[in-house]
Amino acid sequence: MKTNQQPRHILSLSGGKDSAALAFYMRDRVPEMEYVFHDTGKELPETIAYLGRLEALLGKPIHKSTVENGDFIGFDQLLKIYGGMLPSSHRRWCTRKMKLVPFERFIGNEFCYNYVGLRADENRDGYISQKPNIVPVYPFREDGLIKADIERILEESGLGMPPYTEWGRTRSGCFFCFYQQKIEWVRLKAAHPDLFEEAKAYEKPGKNAITTFYWCGNEPLAELEKPERMAQIIREHEVAKERARRNAPNKTLLNILGGVDDYEEKTGCLICQI
Ligand code: SF4
Repeated sequence: MKTNQQPRHILSLSGGKDSAALAFYMRDRVPEMEYVFHDTGKELPETIAYLGRLEALLGKPIHKSTVENGDFIGFDQLLKIYGGMLPSSHRRWCTRKMKLVPFERFIGNEFCYNYVGLRADENRDGYISQKPNIVPVYPFREDGLIKADIERILEESGLGMPPYTEWGRTRSGCFFCFYQQKIEWVRLKAAHPDLFEEAKAYEKPGKNAITTFYWCGNEPLAELEKPERMAQIIREHEVAKERARRNAPNKTLLNILGGVDDYEEKTGCLICQI
């Protein structure tokens, strides 16, 4: 796309570690960078606090697209529009409506470079805008930065890792995100029982699979939270973690002891969780 205007430079923050590290990495490389966050209204409180600290350390405003666009439709209203159909990996209207559309509205038709925090040691594709005026840029991939570099950048910046990693959550995004693993639901219940209850209240058993909406596959949270079921999930998680350790002999001691392992980082949404 050709334009006479100067391109905009936009970095979308998710509240995750990679986009936060990218913000520091690019701060002096692209001084005119605009930082933006698409708040779904269903984020973890830790995510909002983390972004507040990031904004203070960056010394630049983080635009809240969903507020600044002036036409934010919240999750609950959208859920009504979608007839009560909870989003899932194959009905992912949430990302489109609450992340991608606000992002595209924020940019309009102006030409922009969109900086994405995909790392060189990641092998995943993203769910990003396909508009021709929005050109993705992957500085970490281009410069060969891996997870250890991201952790170093965050440590040196004074920001550190997102606080939700302290209780074992591996991703930013909505507290009820269907990309969570079962162990993360168990941890959510322990860390934020009120949010677990809120997520549970959205679930609806139906007459058949098409009209039944649970966050976690075909297991309702009311079943998952039973003590014996949670104990089983924790046991299975420990076994999987041990297997991953044995299969990754080069893993650092820090990663092994850290409790939040790479194998937990399954594919999710780039715009929600990077
Ligand atoms: S974090 Fe999960 S639930 Fe929230 S918008 Fe992204 S994919 Fe959807």
